[in-house]
Amino acid sequence: MPEPLSVLITGASAGIGAATARAFAAAGDRVVLAARSADALAALADEINGAHGGGTATSLALDVTDADAHQRAVADLEIDVAVLNAGLAKGLRPVWENTPAEVDAMVDTNVKGVLNGVRAVVPGMLERGRGHVIPIGSTAAHAVYGGGVVYCATKHAVLAIANGLKIDLHGTPLRVTTVSPGLVETDFSLVRFDGDADRAASVYSDTVALTPGDVADAVVYCAHAPGHVNVQELLLTPRVQSGYTMIARGEAADHVEGR
Ligand code: NAP
Repeated sequence: MPEPLSVLITGASAGIGAATARAFAAAGDRVVLAARSADALAALADEINGAHGGGTATSLALDVTDADAHQRAVADLEIDVAVLNAGLAKGLRPVWENTPAEVDAMVDTNVKGVLNGVRAVVPGMLERGRGHVIPIGSTAAHAVYGGGVVYCATKHAVLAIANGLKIDLHGTPLRVTTVSPGLVETDFSLVRFDGDADRAASVYSDTVALTPGDVADAVVYCAHAPGHVNVQELLLTPRVQSGYTMIARGEAADHVEGR
């Protein structure tokens, strides 16, 4: 049996991050759950620690936009794998209509949050001679769509940071992988539309999105790949999604099993 990995997951209180924590724990790894919602993290840690078999969980209240807090929280943890997943979109409007607060939220969380994570974990990984950084990108790292300019710009930045980090780490044992999902059914749209549940539901209506568990499986695959393998990027979409932004709905999505 391989030694369990110590896995930091930011944005672990919901969606892809929570599913990724469950998937690593099911594989026997030790997960450190980080996000701002301490109660949700505690509940997930209890669930994982109460499960028969599998790995263990601890939780860490952390706002990834706070560089110093990120540094302090992670300093002594000896993280093997850092899944830098915390992220959000705010609004779906032409770029000149984005408020400064929306721009700050997306840039601070998605871009600076990933840089804060890299700064917090990489020096320790280099000292220990092992480590894997896995930022969560998006199909929005490869294409732009109207109304999502700032979000897409942040995800282009995430992919650039990850690709550049791999180059900066050239000749070291560390690995860097971007996992870039297409449409995943989570609270992402609820956050984007400020709690408008009907509008959020319409994003996933009459089609078959990825589940958070689908993305979690992809992340675990990359982290558990043999040590000589580096998955540079894993781009996955639901079968109904084509060309990054086209989503088949209704009858056009009916060929997917389970509908
Ligand atoms: P979600 O269900 O809304 O989860 C987002 C997570 O990020 C939550 O746990 C949230 O926790 C955390 N978070 C937000 N701001 C944070 C901050 N400042 N500090 C720490 N944690 C923070 O959305 P999701 O779909 O799982 O999104 C996860 C990642 O996948 C994001 O990077 C997103 O861009 C990416 N993604 C999503 C999709 C999709 O279709 N859903 C597609 C491609 C990529 P707290 O609020 O408790 O802090």
